Amino acid sequence: MKLRVLGCSGGIAGKARTTSFLLDHDILIDAGTGVEDLSVQEMAAIDHVFLTHSHLDHVASLPLMIDSVGGLRDKPLRVHALPWTIEALRQHIFNWVIWPDFTEIPHYERPWMMFEPINVGQEVVLDPAGSQTGFRVVRALAASHTVPALGFELRSPKGSLVFSGDTGPNEDFWRQVNGIKQLRHLIIESAFPNRDQDLAMTAKHLFPIQLANELTKLQVEPRVYVTHLKPSDVTTTAREIKAWVAYPQPSLLEQGQVLEF
Ligand SMILES: [Zn+2]
Ligand SMILES: [Zn+2]
Repeated sequence: MKLRVLGCSGGIAGKARTTSFLLDHDILIDAGTGVEDLSVQEMAAIDHVFLTHSHLDHVASLPLMIDSVGGLRDKPLRVHALPWTIEALRQHIFNWVIWPDFTEIPHYERPWMMFEPINVGQEVVLDPAGSQTGFRVVRALAASHTVPALGFELRSPKGSLVFSGDTGPNEDFWRQVNGIKQLRHLIIESAFPNRDQDLAMTAKHLFPIQLANELTKLQVEPRVYVTHLKPSDVTTTAREIKAWVAYPQPSLLEQGQVLEF
């Protein structure tokens, strides 16, 4: 499988886009502002969206994308998320006030979008047609954030990629990650620099000292990438990650980067 980073910033600024990854050509992992750089054809080809959680930086482009391409598609876009997240999206976004409810448009029997609940530990096996790799599985992992949240394992016969989503420290996550046989890539967050550690703990995000501590729990050997840095503090946070995380030395995830596994 191929994961293309459409956005990996903790905020907007210039060309920085918020969290969204395109898996092969037909699956989105989160739908932050990175989606806005896709063409109409690329958006219309997306059949599945997996959401880590309800926060705006991870869902902002979903309502606009379905409005732009729903009419070009012959089947509904399937949005996989925790039941809590689905309820939040229904109540606060697709509520006919902020945006129309596209699970009823153009008709509830043949909608442009449908929600599929997924819970921690659950796996979704996807049609391999979009991939050369044989099978594709998305497994929901535990995350610990201010709202119910998930991480994801993306698995092909060649190996796995794990994305932590937004999370503070979480033992359940490491138990799941350490059980993965062929873990090639780990994308994990560090949203704040060390000086904002109180804020990070309240917001349930990692900061470099805590990231270093979390990575000592890793018992397998993937390449590690750090995501979700706040644009105003990228330089400081990157310097602190380098100083604090001795092993495995992570790289910063970059917008436009492609990871294969
Ligand atoms: Zn969040
Ligand atoms: Zn976020």
